[in-house]
Amino acid sequence: MYAEIIASGTELLMGEIQDTNSSFLASHLPALGLEVRQATLVGDDLEHYTEVLERAWKRTPFTFTTGGLGPTVDDVSREAIAKVFQEEVHVDTQLLETLKTRFRERGTDMPPHNIKQAWLIPSAVGLPNRSGTAPGWWAEKNGHVIIALPGPPRELYDMWEHEVAPRLRERVHGSVVLTRTIKTLGLGEALVDEMAGPILKSKNPYVGIYARPDGIYLRVIARGTTREEASGLLRPVEEDLRHTFQANIWGIDDETPEESVGALLRQRGFTLATMESCTGGMLADTITNVSGSSHYFKGGIVSYTNELKVASGVPAELIERHGAVSSQVAEAMAAAARLRMGADFGIGITGVTGPDELEGKPPGTVFIGLAHAGGRESSQQRFPANNRTLVKRRAVTTALLALRRILNAAS
Ligand code: AMP
Ligand code: MG
Repeated sequence: MYAEIIASGTELLMGEIQDTNSSFLASHLPALGLEVRQATLVGDDLEHYTEVLERAWKRTPFTFTTGGLGPTVDDVSREAIAKVFQEEVHVDTQLLETLKTRFRERGTDMPPHNIKQAWLIPSAVGLPNRSGTAPGWWAEKNGHVIIALPGPPRELYDMWEHEVAPRLRERVHGSVVLTRTIKTLGLGEALVDEMAGPILKSKNPYVGIYARPDGIYLRVIARGTTREEASGLLRPVEEDLRHTFQANIWGIDDETPEESVGALLRQRGFTLATMESCTGGMLADTITNVSGSSHYFKGGIVSYTNELKVASGVPAELIERHGAVSSQVAEAMAAAARLRMGADFGIGITGVTGPDELEGKPPGTVFIGLAHAGGRESSQQRFPANNRTLVKRRAVTTALLALRRILNAAS
């Protein structure tokens, strides 16, 4: 069954805000049996919005709109739906009560213009908003549904989870689409293609390969009349790919390297300390993006200059002999962090983010050192060097995955 998405907001058309709501909906609808056929951006212009919405509603069983549910005059989603359905809006007493209570809880009276957020039309019901004031709308006419969702992403996610997905599960019976993303690092796109083999020619499940800053992803898409059927088709292909790419897989679906490393450290009761140079704190920042990281992360030193590296425990003669960007210094940074902070594992990163070379080493050169009870090790990386942030990100990902390999090998 088909669905369309319409994201409204002039700020989206100006490129000021990225339309992450459409991406969210597009990635969640297939699992509920809805295939997105079109996604459109419109500005906050009632006439134009109505035109786009009417076309979508007439040809598509489910149309999702995001944004335009605020209290101001440029929030026109309700007006547009009312026009398309040719119905009059009225103030719904129950929605109004809920809205007033919401404002009272915040310690203020409801501003008069918020009354728009209590509007309904005869063909719509309100969808409660747990994290904001604007209720959504589930509007239905002639067998076709328009689901109006708020613009703020967190409000949209909550409403999706608690109000929309459960209703869709009851309503939509058609084909179910399941996907699995297998994330690899350390192999080129062409090699991944070759290793994946004939499965790439299959239509269902379909296997796609795409390159991301943190490696090559394989995406399996399986379609069935029921969830069981789709999952029965997906499973053997997923197992096959997991087996083929075993050593290079670092995550499945939404999993991040910092989460998978964090889970392993926590499981085994190990701690981690870091010393980083060219990544400027991004490693520690990334590690601490995981909730519960205080259980295993002792801390990190950003030793950007050679003086601070020495002051933090890196032997000066190593820097003199091999240069600050070297495997010896990366290992010494890891060892010093581990020792100084009393951790089980230490990570050291030193490299050249560019655009200029350093110590005769080209931009994109990064050394990653690891220290643990069993000794020290390091690897040299050469990342494509057209962007400092990207070099830093890849260095951080590679360092976390190197630690993950050690943790897995130690099991
Ligand atoms: P609105 O409900 O249209 O007033 O939107 C409120 C806020 O939500 C906007 O200012 C944006 O910050 C955010 N927002 C709206 N639409 C989107 C979208 N499609 N993707 C991500 N954020 C959005
Ligand atoms: Mg808006």
